[in-house]
Amino acid sequence: MLITHGRIATFGQNPQVIEDGAICIAGDQIIAVGPTAELKARYPETEQLDADGQLVLPGSICAHTHFYGAFARGLAIPGAPARNFVEILQKLWWRLDRALDEESIRLSALVCLVDAIRNGTTTLIDHHASPGLIDGSLDICAEAIAHSGLRVCECYEVTDRNGLEGAQAGIAENTRFARQLAARPNPLLAAAFGLHASFTIGPETLERCVAEAQSLGLGFHVHVAEDNADELDSETKYGQRVGEHLSAKGVLGEKTLSAHCVHVNQHEIDLLAKTNTKVSHQPRSNMNNAVGTAPVQKMLDSGVCVGLGNDGFSNNMYSEMKAAYLAHKSAARDPRAMPGDTVLRLAYENNARIAALFWPRPLGEIAPGAYADLVFLDYFPYTPLTAGNLPWQIIFGVDGTHVTTTMVGGRVLMRDRVVLALDEERIAAQARAIAPQVWQRFEAISLREG
Ligand SMILES: [Zn+2]
Repeated sequence: MLITHGRIATFGQNPQVIEDGAICIAGDQIIAVGPTAELKARYPETEQLDADGQLVLPGSICAHTHFYGAFARGLAIPGAPARNFVEILQKLWWRLDRALDEESIRLSALVCLVDAIRNGTTTLIDHHASPGLIDGSLDICAEAIAHSGLRVCECYEVTDRNGLEGAQAGIAENTRFARQLAARPNPLLAAAFGLHASFTIGPETLERCVAEAQSLGLGFHVHVAEDNADELDSETKYGQRVGEHLSAKGVLGEKTLSAHCVHVNQHEIDLLAKTNTKVSHQPRSNMNNAVGTAPVQKMLDSGVCVGLGNDGFSNNMYSEMKAAYLAHKSAARDPRAMPGDTVLRLAYENNARIAALFWPRPLGEIAPGAYADLVFLDYFPYTPLTAGNLPWQIIFGVDGTHVTTTMVGGRVLMRDRVVLALDEERIAAQARAIAPQVWQRFEAISLREG
């Protein structure tokens, strides 16, 4: 396929904006990028897709999300409002995840996948939990993902909060899914080994996870120091900070993705850097949970690869970029904090490095050899758009609502705002139909537990 007449922002090592540019795609990858006239002459026989002057960007990458949380939208939480992060988990997430059954896991994933296609988020790293149905839950997600055509890494969050049996089942699900994927590879799917967080996993379970993940060659996807409660728990139980504890146990490492790291101190940051552990930053979630502001600049300055996720917020990564841009300025009371180019470094360059843990070809850039994961946006800038000012054009001008066309691995998933890969209306109707049942189960669990 030859995409023609786009305003192409390439990103990558040598970022350029190509006016009236073209992209030639063969199979699932990009084979050439250049002026439309030149590529048309070089590939005269290739089927053309006219971008008609739209902005063409690499698809967005979300480094940390939770498809399972979709039914929280509009959900009434009984009792007094949660006063802190741990209460938010107890009153909302640790009840909602137990209310999920096969159909709600499937639809939870599907509504998020539709949202991702609409907003041009083409790669997502998901962290799944459904304690009422653990065995096979990742297959339910994987089937939805396969229909969507998006690029997704899955894992099951191991925790001791549902007893030994729940922990064992979580370990088994990660293992089963990873083995199955290795036996029957799907180029769009990947696996990590999911852990909830240090404060809900005892030392024995953690040791079993490390042994299992090592034998499978998998890295971890784990929440780290999201709230200070995680640090206090670790200091009380182990006399160590969370980062020190996880490092000593062998959880940190170059294949490991640690979400949040809001409360890590300089020593923990040094451990993250030394082990080349990846970090994902979720400013909208951090603000919503009032857990604090992650030391993103400190981590970057110390050599940590920090990317950007949504933690289950909308799959509009342009919104997450805006939130990152604003949150740090507000927290630091310094307009120089978190400049636009740093935000884009998290969202594109660093997210691409995180995605490289799971997929062999480059993502987050438009270059020969990279996956053809692209979005068209009907954003027509009213000031000159250059490689130099692109971060600020995106932060102040671009939103997910501009996305008209979404492509993953050369397959068009949405064209002119019509989602082709999934039946959007049917999925929303099915989700609406079962949501009252999910909410009833949630309410019953809440009433039982007070
Ligand atoms: Zn999370």
